[in-house]
Amino acid sequence: MNHPPNRPDHDLDRRDAPRPDAIPPVVVAGGGIVGTAVAFALQGSVPVLLVEEGDFPGLAETREAVGILKAVLGHPVLDDYARATWDFALAQHHHPRSPVRLTFAGLDGRPGRAAFLDPLLLLDAMLLLARRAGLQLRTRTRVVEPVLDGGRVTGVRLERVGDGPGTASRRGSGGSHGSHRTAPETAGATGTGKIIAASALVLAPGPRPDSLAMPGLPGGFAGRFVRVKDVVIPFLLPPGTEPEPEVYTRRSLIWRFATGMQPRTLLAAARLEGDWAPPSFDQVVALVEDLVHRFGLPGEAQLDRTRLLVDLRGPGGLPFAGPVAPLGGAEGIFVAAGMGLEGLSLALGVGRQVAAAVMHYLRAHR
Ligand SMILES: Cc1cc2nc3c(=O)[nH]c(=O)nc-3n(C[C@H](O)[C@H](O)[C@H](O)COP(=O)(O)OP(=O)(O)OC[C@H]3O[C@@H](n4cnc5c(N)ncnc54)[C@H](O)[C@@H]3O)c2cc1C
Repeated sequence: MNHPPNRPDHDLDRRDAPRPDAIPPVVVAGGGIVGTAVAFALQGSVPVLLVEEGDFPGLAETREAVGILKAVLGHPVLDDYARATWDFALAQHHHPRSPVRLTFAGLDGRPGRAAFLDPLLLLDAMLLLARRAGLQLRTRTRVVEPVLDGGRVTGVRLERVGDGPGTASRRGSGGSHGSHRTAPETAGATGTGKIIAASALVLAPGPRPDSLAMPGLPGGFAGRFVRVKDVVIPFLLPPGTEPEPEVYTRRSLIWRFATGMQPRTLLAAARLEGDWAPPSFDQVVALVEDLVHRFGLPGEAQLDRTRLLVDLRGPGGLPFAGPVAPLGGAEGIFVAAGMGLEGLSLALGVGRQVAAAVMHYLRAHR
């Protein structure tokens, strides 16, 4: 019988890890599936504080995901990342006390290489296990900036996010949530908010370029991520059509999903680059015509149920998962962003990659 891991399941070598009680926490900014996976992969080796500005982890882009998990993505690095998440989800699926259940699907005609699942249950599973291992979680709190000393992270500035009077917390635009308001906690040296000690900062902000423009990151770093819009258009298939759960992909251009989650509905997703303004009705109609033409889609597009989400595509079309210092930023800042439409599939692999980089840094600077 498969058991879900009862502690963070990763390959870090704990023998050389700094003594957990000897260092301030690693602060992970962003409690989406990616930040949660980073916290999950780190927890048990070092103290970790997961900071989420929303009411609870997972309520931003992760909640919007269709829920497709792929065992392979067709790229050597991404396949490694995907395998980590797939194995974790599979272990959860087989565990009688885990609510995570997979609906297995074919991927590009090959059976058993993809599955549908509830993204929030996947996140909850990681969060629960990490919390059991000691993860601290702070919600309705925003990481505003790192505190640097000698070009290295020694703390982070936090601001509470509340409903009371305050300053709008968003710097920049394009986030997928509504606007929160901030209330200062304690006046710090150079601004409002509260400063806490931190041994490293991991930014996992999802589609939030403003968080990637913080002090301490290399100039122009946020500009390495391309803004993209993902338009998901459901097609209602003709009566009597009950397709097997199946996922079809066309990397970087157009994906089409036939999902078993909602019978007779086929989801087509198209990715557009450019600004973050919603596409006009005419643009969506043109997209539908293009999809129908390319793939010969049956059924009718349900334009009133079309969803648009914004995201960041990482440098070279790949996620960024690691330290920023080699690019000229401060030591001790790490970024996990640019997952595109594959963040669920990539999350745990990316989490482990970043956790390994953080542990390497902490060992080197003990
Ligand atoms: C329509 C659509 C369908 C998709 N379907 C799939 C799918 O089927 N399969 C798949 O693998 N992927 C899918 N994706 C992609 C997937 O949803 C994302 O890649 C993934 O959710 C990104 O997770 P994240 O943790 O990076 O971002 P998010 O879930 O957005 O989490 C980031 C979090 O960081 C918080 N935050 C940001 N800045 C700060 C800060 N400074 N301080 C504190 N908190 C902060 C935000 O509040 C947010 O909660 C889909 C995407 C879209 C748009």
